[in-house]
Amino acid sequence: MGLILITHDLGVVADVADDITVMYAGRAVEQAGVLETFASPAHPYTKALLRSIPRLDVKGQRLEVIAGLPPVLTRIPPGCPFAPRCQYAQDICTRQRPELLTVTPGRASACHFAKEVMNDV
Ligand code: SF4
Repeated sequence: MGLILITHDLGVVADVADDITVMYAGRAVEQAGVLETFASPAHPYTKALLRSIPRLDVKGQRLEVIAGLPPVLTRIPPGCPFAPRCQYAQDICTRQRPELLTVTPGRASACHFAKEVMNDV
């Protein structure tokens, strides 16, 4: 038996899921095992989501926010939908929409620079 859980609560995901698919603007942008995703996300949106989780072991921590807004789904611009909000964006990002491709075995990302994002700690 399987369970599909749709949530914004990554703490719940960490507790109950084996695999995770991160969606942005109606598309899957990252797919991987939960442990791999939390340890080294391969998409900037996933990375930003993880940085916005409050930590109970850090006092006085300022929560990080993802600047900007998601695109209007009826008017998604060409290129990567996350580009206006992405700290890794380069010229190609506004011209060519990244496909969800395998980055490493068992892991896929829709980012032109997935390996660089994964290795940027
Ligand atoms: S394709 Fe470019 S804009 Fe989109 S997530 Fe990757 S680096 Fe950011």
